[in-house]
Amino acid sequence: MTIIHNLGFPRIGPKRELKYALESFWRGETDTETLTQQARSRFLQNLASQANLDYQPVGDFSLYDHVLDHTLMFNNVPSRFKADANTPLQSYFRMARGRAPHDSPEMQTTAGEMTKWFDTNYHYIVPEFDRDTTFSLNDKPLIKQIHQAREQAFNAKPVLIGPVTYLWLGKVKDDTDPLSLLNALLVQYQQLLENIARCGVEWVQIDEPVLATDLPATWQNAFNVAYQTLSQSRVKLLLTTYFGKLGNNVNLATQLPVAGLHVDAVRGRSDVEAVLRQLPATKVLSLGVIDGRNIWKTDLSATLDFLEPVAAQLNHRLWLAPSCSLLHVPVDLDHETAMDPELKSWLAFATQKLDELGVLSQALKHGRASVADALNKNQCALESRRASDRVHNRCVQQREASINRKDLQRQSEFSQRKAIQQAALKLPLYPTTTIGSFPQTSTIRDLRRQLRQSHIDEHDYRQAIKACIAECIEQQEQLGLDVLAHGEAERNDMVEYFGQLLGGFAFTESGWVQSYGSRCVKPPVIFGDVHRPKAMTVDWTCYAQSLTQKPLKGMLTGPVTMLNWSFVRDDQPHSTTCRQIALAIRDEVLALEQAGIKLIQIDEAALREGLPLRQDEWQKYLRWSVDAFRLAANGVSDTTQIHTHMCYADFNDIIHSIARLDADVISIETSRSEMALLDAFTHFDYPNDIGPGVYDIHSPNIPDTHSIVNLLQKAAEKLPQDQLWVNPDCGLKTRRWEEVIPALKNMVAAARQLRHRA
Ligand code: GLN
Ligand code: ZN
Repeated sequence: MTIIHNLGFPRIGPKRELKYALESFWRGETDTETLTQQARSRFLQNLASQANLDYQPVGDFSLYDHVLDHTLMFNNVPSRFKADANTPLQSYFRMARGRAPHDSPEMQTTAGEMTKWFDTNYHYIVPEFDRDTTFSLNDKPLIKQIHQAREQAFNAKPVLIGPVTYLWLGKVKDDTDPLSLLNALLVQYQQLLENIARCGVEWVQIDEPVLATDLPATWQNAFNVAYQTLSQSRVKLLLTTYFGKLGNNVNLATQLPVAGLHVDAVRGRSDVEAVLRQLPATKVLSLGVIDGRNIWKTDLSATLDFLEPVAAQLNHRLWLAPSCSLLHVPVDLDHETAMDPELKSWLAFATQKLDELGVLSQALKHGRASVADALNKNQCALESRRASDRVHNRCVQQREASINRKDLQRQSEFSQRKAIQQAALKLPLYPTTTIGSFPQTSTIRDLRRQLRQSHIDEHDYRQAIKACIAECIEQQEQLGLDVLAHGEAERNDMVEYFGQLLGGFAFTESGWVQSYGSRCVKPPVIFGDVHRPKAMTVDWTCYAQSLTQKPLKGMLTGPVTMLNWSFVRDDQPHSTTCRQIALAIRDEVLALEQAGIKLIQIDEAALREGLPLRQDEWQKYLRWSVDAFRLAANGVSDTTQIHTHMCYADFNDIIHSIARLDADVISIETSRSEMALLDAFTHFDYPNDIGPGVYDIHSPNIPDTHSIVNLLQKAAEKLPQDQLWVNPDCGLKTRRWEEVIPALKNMVAAARQLRHRA
């Protein structure tokens, strides 16, 4: 008998119910009791969606973030949050969101830092440690959820982040070794497991995804210490890893004294053989065979081909699950009422993935014939996807196959281009510009809504957006910026805008995935060969350029960012899909150039985000992703100036690749690091131009001229001044004009001061 279970379910609800509940609480429209009730009902409904499983996860549900829940469970609350007496819920949200300086700046508290959860687009609140860190147990909320689930007859399997991963995820604020905290933390885990055992629970899922990363020997050792200690507990532990191969940690993971092991059998399929060989015969093996990171239907027959021999070998010791928590996929495909039925037939969201699990377990229990219908339907869907000419476009494939080295190469090297561009553009020293977007005002958002609801037609919409662009150009002229942008008024989102105009991309109605807290994103689905039926930005850009004598930058999103912020097809390598997108962007770049646009920016906000978890896979990724950027950008003549932009990132270990992009100008986010991020460029002798961000656009604060001058002076100590541009950290779309105008005024004034001193 094969047990089926789930590692975690999307919390937010099929209609983002939890998001709305949270946001109305934060606005003060609902009280604690209402929010608690709403959360409880969401939690129970999520369990009900998993009723077909043998075990339901409990503890994966969270009001904001499951890592933050652990931080509170172990009372690892940084001292700055302890000061004022709050309700537990208030301090929870204060840690998550901080407190704005509203009327009394001294009351301001900065939220916990947020960072990406492994290689997903989910962000967690980073635990903080220092030499004063102590732990104590506050497990009431979790124990309550276990009781609630059991009262409703769910077979609760509590989910915990394991102690080693919890310590690994944290940030140490002094020189404390995080592993020196392990023993103190283990004491709390022991008590926690005892309290869970008292609830009558049999299995606890203990997540240690760091086992899928490169672990130093001291951390591998920590696993031995931790699980020796936890093996004393009365509950059975399912040590759970995901997001990749165990690789050199197979031995460690299989030998730890726990009752079961879960491995990611999608990304880590190549481990399974070694795991089967090494796993002691007493242990349960849970295979994550359904992809928790993507939205495609599983090939159930192929999966059974793989599973049947394993099931014969392991018998009741084989469990099945998705590869990882389903937090990273949308909730339920049934809510997609407008989607094309053929495309829809190829997809599976969280709910459908659990159904697939049901089919697999039936087939293993009672033979494939017992689920012949389901297997047939599955095969038909896969066959239609394989054969569909909406997926396969011969022209695109041939073009992709015939890309050659020369396509990736600019005509001349940077120093020559720089001289040619300077002669044409005649920009002053410290040229000022922006990252592209300007405030998305309510007028702009209203226009888009009116168009969507057919209250205005396409023509009127375009006229009205043009008026916004004209206003934006007028403002930039008045501010005295040197290189203008059209402002991106026509774009809802930097990936969605292009995806909607490209072939091979599809969009969902409710395919929301949690990004952080109440924030969700709706990633596009790249289902087919990507192509560009018509120009996407040329009209808007040329219109904007026609209004000004100043040079204007065309604005595009790069191929790597489009790929990394989408659900990507699984029937060809990501690198191939990325090159197809790059070809489409290349055509747009050349069309802009032909139309007389002299500067073109190709944003690659997510280039670093796409780095694999394992260092030994970095080079391969960086090679094809940088090549894709080069393919998109480098068809232009020497006179055309290529810009790129990257959001906050550490450049130290990827500076070679940044240089290989060979963009004429790169703008980066540096203001909060006080320009420290520029050091990577200094040490590398990075030759091309750089715009280090001189003010933080995430905050409503208006930077004064003096502080910008200071930052620019710092930059000028690190790099020759004729390499420097002056710009904000990132796009301005989330800010208001009242903030943007004075900030940019000060920025331009600062640049002028430096110019005069030079
Ligand atoms: N051009 C985009 C903007 O200004 C870039 C944003 C980004 O890279 N995150 O909004
Ligand atoms: Zn940015």
